[in-house]
Amino acid sequence: MRRQVDYLIIGQGLAGSILSRELIKQGCSIQLIDNQKENASQIAAGLINPITGMRLVKNKELDILLPSAKQTYLQLGQFFQQDFYLEKPMLRVLRNTQELQKFKQRIQDSAYLDYLEPNLRPAPDSIIAPLGIIQQKQTGYLLTQKLLACLKSYFQKKNCYQAEQLDYQDLTINDNIQWQDITAKKIIFCEGYQAINNPWFKYLPFQLAKGEILTLTTAQTLLPELLNFGHWLIPLNKHQFRTGATFDNINLNTLTTQKGKNTLLKALTRVMPALNSATIDTQQANIRPTTLDKMPFIGQHPEHKNIMIFNGFGAKGSLQIPYYSKQFVQHLLTNAPIAPAVNCQRYR
Ligand SMILES: Cc1cc2nc3c(=O)[nH]c(=O)nc-3n(C[C@H](O)[C@H](O)[C@H](O)COP(=O)(O)OP(=O)(O)OC[C@H]3O[C@@H](n4cnc5c(N)ncnc54)[C@H](O)[C@@H]3O)c2cc1C
Repeated sequence: MRRQVDYLIIGQGLAGSILSRELIKQGCSIQLIDNQKENASQIAAGLINPITGMRLVKNKELDILLPSAKQTYLQLGQFFQQDFYLEKPMLRVLRNTQELQKFKQRIQDSAYLDYLEPNLRPAPDSIIAPLGIIQQKQTGYLLTQKLLACLKSYFQKKNCYQAEQLDYQDLTINDNIQWQDITAKKIIFCEGYQAINNPWFKYLPFQLAKGEILTLTTAQTLLPELLNFGHWLIPLNKHQFRTGATFDNINLNTLTTQKGKNTLLKALTRVMPALNSATIDTQQANIRPTTLDKMPFIGQHPEHKNIMIFNGFGAKGSLQIPYYSKQFVQHLLTNAPIAPAVNCQRYR
């Protein structure tokens, strides 16, 4: 029997999941297809960090993105009766005098005071930080894997999830979209880095970046805060932590490497030598769907009105996806414009 839905969504990473949930909340019918390969969201650290880089720059759209992300994860937490977003301060090891100068400049700017403690902290004994440590506020991380597992079973209970690979040649595109026994008004591709093979959107300038992450266990007692030292450390409990991530835009595959492991261990033990006896539990790798101008690709194919994309969230999926899901759903339902900076048609 043929099934009719409003939207056929391809990909159950964070983008496809949050967008699907938002569409369902707004009364739309969807069918979500995912090939269940390990995706970027499943291994991502899920960090939300308002102030990034050596110049301690506040994300341009932070004041709209962060409240939306926090509210979305809180509501999902209430819905599933679990916590998905853990807010924790982030200690940042100052790496050179320019960074220290930048910090002194930033704390004179009121726009930064919600995100930076104005006083330098002395380094705890376990950390080598001759220039001191600053404390960032409103940082945290999303338990992405746990959230995606809950959302997957929610979609399954609603009979709108299908574990399958979508092959592009099996789609029939007319006024409607047809795939297997499904007829949809529109198809929305949320394929993460695999979009580079999508015949309708491969012209978009993705600039993919592979990343590797380690999970380790140590006999040392870890500090409760997140730590940033060029790379980051997330304490999962008193003795287990994740550290990452590497950044490689040449070897674009999902294989873990000795080089990735060595890079991460070297950076880690330079600031925390006592962690050199930690044992590695897992090493993971995947590919960030990063873009040329570091902005997402959202909207309609230039020629096919019923083929859409929601992708390109790069290294900031946890922060950006909730806000842009809401914006995109408003566009789909009321034709509200998509902000030009994220509209995929900027690269027509
Ligand atoms: C090492 C690493 C660390 C990261 N750390 C952070 C971080 O700390 N904070 C942060 O915000 N972001 C981080 N990210 C980025 C984050 O992972 C991405 O922004 C986000 O996960 C992208 O989600 P997505 O849904 O677009 O893609 P994905 O999570 O990759 O999901 C795409 C899904 O679509 C499926 N799919 C694709 N094509 C098809 C098809 N034809 N048929 C069926 N299914 C298909 C894929 O298998 C996959 O399941 C990190 C990424 C990496 C790799």
